[in-house]
Parts: sequence; C-alpha cells; structure tokens
Amino acid sequence: MSFTQLEIDENIKIVLNKFEKPTPIQASCWPICLSGRDVIGIAETGSGKTLAFTVPALKHIKNLFYIPPNNKPSILVIAPTRELAMQTQEQCKQFDSTCGIKSVCIYGGVPKEEQRKALRKGVHIAVATPGRLIDLINEGICDISNVSYLVLDEADRMLDEGFEKEIRQIIVKTHKDRQTVMFSATWPESVRKLANDFLNNPMKVTI
Ligand code: AMP
Repeated sequence: MSFTQLEIDENIKIVLNKFEKPTPIQASCWPICLSGRDVIGIAETGSGKTLAFTVPALKHIKNLFYIPPNNKPSILVIAPTRELAMQTQEQCKQFDSTCGIKSVCIYGGVPKEEQRKALRKGVHIAVATPGRLIDLINEGICDISNVSYLVLDEADRMLDEGFEKEIRQIIVKTHKDRQTVMFSATWPESVRKLANDFLNNPMKVTI
C-alpha cells in the first residue's frame, strides 16, 4: 500500500508524505478504520500505531462534521500515562497547520487551568489520561457526549494500572453510535472482556 491509494484529504497526505510508506500496522488498520468499522490493533509503541488511529480520525472529522473546534470534542484518545498522551498529542499537532485540527492534552499532576482554557477555546481532539479527564468531566468543563471516534490506547497497560473503572465510566459518556479503536501490546482475558463489552463487531489486526 502507498499513501496515494488512501482515500483521505490531500492536506492529510502532506503530513504523511514525509514518510516513505505506511508501516504494517498502518497499512492494515487504515482501510478498516476508514470503512467505519471498530478495530483492535495488537501492536507495540514504535510500530506507527499513533498515526494508524489518528489518520482515520481526521477523515472522520472532515466527513461527519467539518465544523470549527468547539468545547465538545469529536475524537477522544485515552492513554495510560501522561508521557504517552503527550506524545500522541504531538502527532495530532502535525495536522494543525495543514488541516486546522485543534487538540488538547489532558493529564494530571499539573494545574487544570491551561487544560480548561484549551477546552473552552475549542478542540476537535482530546488526548487524555483517565483520572484528570474524569475530573474535568465532573467539573462540567469537558463534555464528551459528541465523541464519535474513541481510541483506547495501550489498553492492557491501562488495565494493569488499575484504570478499568475509570475507562468504563468514560466510555459510557461518549456517543453511543461511536467508532471504537483499541490498541494493546498484549491480548489477555481482561482486555478481551473490555473489547467484548464496548466494541461492535471489531476486526482484529495483529502485527
Ligand atoms: P508510534 O508507534 O505511533 O509511537 O510511532 C513511532 C514513530 O514512528 C513516530 O516517531 C512516528 O513519527 C514514526 N512513524 C509513523 N508512521 C511512520 C511511517 N509510515 N514511516 C516511518 N516512520 C513512521
């Protein structure tokens, strides 16, 4: 597969063209994600998984919404750690200058005001760790009811770190007709159960 074959906006391709070709996880995930189907990707960090789920998310915004950013993001990525959330948002930021895609990174251990400000200003994509996201939802600052593309990144690690209750609380607040994409490095029973409870007829891709 090459980037030219992808049915996505040219402005998104500008960012991808700095790479020679899609990585295996991207080549497998993109057609499935772009078709609107739920996906489970079994892949490690370093495989290019972030763009595997971000690029279809962008098409999703353009197709379904084509709206300016607002305080109800359409895309939500949940990640186990602040470091991973920040790395993911860095990759989302590449699409700001070419596509006008605004994002916020929500994580604990820092004052909330900057994150509140970014949400009030408006975003398309929120990348968040579970605890702080729930805080901001409970404050009424972050409304995830319009989230129609949800990513659970490093799902096995989120469960290992004891976030299952929070993740379940978050998922049920998103839009019920959402597309859900789950990434995990491993596929234990706990992750299978989460996928079974929240993903709809997912296609599983293992790299
Ligand atoms: P990730 O697995 O998402 O953490 O990505 C690891 C690194 O691979 C990041 O620095 C990306 O910029 C880079 N990357 C993503 N897609 C590609 C690609 N198609 N070709 C080469 N590098 C890539």
